[in-house]
Amino acid sequence: MTNSNFDFPARDYDFTEYVEAKNWIGGEWTPSSTGRTEPVYNPRHGEAMGSVVFSDASDVQAAFEAAQKAQKDWAQWPIRERAEVLYKLKSLMEENLDELSWLLSHENGKTFDQAKASVLKGIECVEMGASLQNMADGGQLDVSRGVNCRVVHEPLGVVAGVVPFNFPTMVPLWMIPQALVAGNGFILKPSERVPFGSMRLGELLQQAGLPDGVFNIINGGKESVQAIADHEGIKAAAFVGSTPVAKLLYERGSKTGKKMLCLGGAKNHLVVVPDADRELSSSNIVSSFTGCAGQRCMAAAVLLAVGDTQHIIDDVIEKAQQLEMGVDIGAIVTEESKERIVGYIDQAEAAGVDVAVDGRGKEVAGSDGWWVGPTILDNVEPGMPCATEEIFGPVLTIIRVDTLDEALEIENESPFGNAAAIYTTSGGIAERAVNRFEAGMCGVNIGVPVPREPFAFGGWNDSKFGHGDMTGWDGFLFWTRPRKVTSKWALQSDETWMS
Ligand code: NAD
Repeated sequence: MTNSNFDFPARDYDFTEYVEAKNWIGGEWTPSSTGRTEPVYNPRHGEAMGSVVFSDASDVQAAFEAAQKAQKDWAQWPIRERAEVLYKLKSLMEENLDELSWLLSHENGKTFDQAKASVLKGIECVEMGASLQNMADGGQLDVSRGVNCRVVHEPLGVVAGVVPFNFPTMVPLWMIPQALVAGNGFILKPSERVPFGSMRLGELLQQAGLPDGVFNIINGGKESVQAIADHEGIKAAAFVGSTPVAKLLYERGSKTGKKMLCLGGAKNHLVVVPDADRELSSSNIVSSFTGCAGQRCMAAAVLLAVGDTQHIIDDVIEKAQQLEMGVDIGAIVTEESKERIVGYIDQAEAAGVDVAVDGRGKEVAGSDGWWVGPTILDNVEPGMPCATEEIFGPVLTIIRVDTLDEALEIENESPFGNAAAIYTTSGGIAERAVNRFEAGMCGVNIGVPVPREPFAFGGWNDSKFGHGDMTGWDGFLFWTRPRKVTSKWALQSDETWMS
């Protein structure tokens, strides 16, 4: 890796090239001070495609100093000019869509189509950032005779984002557009398993005209994240990842007085009732639990089948069996993750659960990568680990119940609260379910109910620690602080130097 453009030439799954992920500080690729690196694997091949540096507090400090210096001037740019950089980033991402999609397919293991869909969703987030210039008006009012109050959204200074492996380009773009257009300096800590998509973003932002130092990348693991949480000068940090880390980081970062917003893991419940549309619900349930090989926080995890829904379950089983490994189902990010997923299936089988579709041992011919096929565990009891813990793989757990109330009770007992959905053709049933779900993002006949821009993204309960949501207008509010200006002017004579 040099300081020149990092073009990833892959245009098929077979390509292998060794690349090095360094830190991006002040617009330069920089080695970490620890000198330590770890391999980055291509999950489809099961072999290293590159390496990533591991950073410590001194690297975070270097990124902080670069960001602090650059941010002072960046904050003085009019918001329209800051948003212009995002417009250019959008065009550059569109021009480089294939490259960005192949890059993240290689580092993450997603199929090319799924990788491309996630880059496109990232572009939608950039578009939201570009439109903030037309929305960022804080409001004003004459609150008394001759007295006016107005609100101005001011940047916080230097802020940071820590992101997971499962959407290497999209999740950073849940944070970066709002934070930058607001006038902050930004430090991104990508997942050490997928550093390359973020690196490409750094270069494209530079190409789009972002001044060096406004956006920086620190690579590494736990040590670099803790240094971000403990840094007194970093004024806000957002996190997306698993619940235990989200909770730890929220508490640790809050001790320094930082604004913290930490999105955690999930165990999403889908409820299907007998009047549901057979084709729509069965196809949708299958794509919800198998999309991105189940490695997404919005994936279906538990299907609560109410009453006589056997016809729909039969279709779900049949459709899941037809999916092709490597074409419809991507790879699992690491061998360890594959073993964790298979462990849950083994455990459920040993407890007497019916493995209606078995993804264990499903592979892609000639690949040494990490694969688990679609798996359906049927007739599961509510308290079992496969019904309550986050598996983060293409595994659907079916719990059969007699009534909608029973289904809602089970959903409500989950400590998570990211997403939930109901499949029905009845508006009344849909309303009843949506109003009672203990989840921040609810779907009606949609198994992956991601709020699209300008609506904000965020769950409830153990799926989120902190206040507000990410993306959309809420994202802009998170990365800013409101200044209230109250003004009263002495009346001047009509005759002034302006007359
Ligand atoms: P993870 O929690 O292991 O890692 C996320 C980030 O935290 C990475 O950058 C990692 O380097 C860092 N990290 C890991 N352990 C740490 C520790 N002990 N201290 C400090 N930092 C640490 O998550 P992951 O495996 O990369 O991603 C999968 C998880 O993310 C799943 O639980 C999934 O549900 C969740 N997720 C949630 C959302 C959401 O919007 N709620 C979105 C995507 C993913």
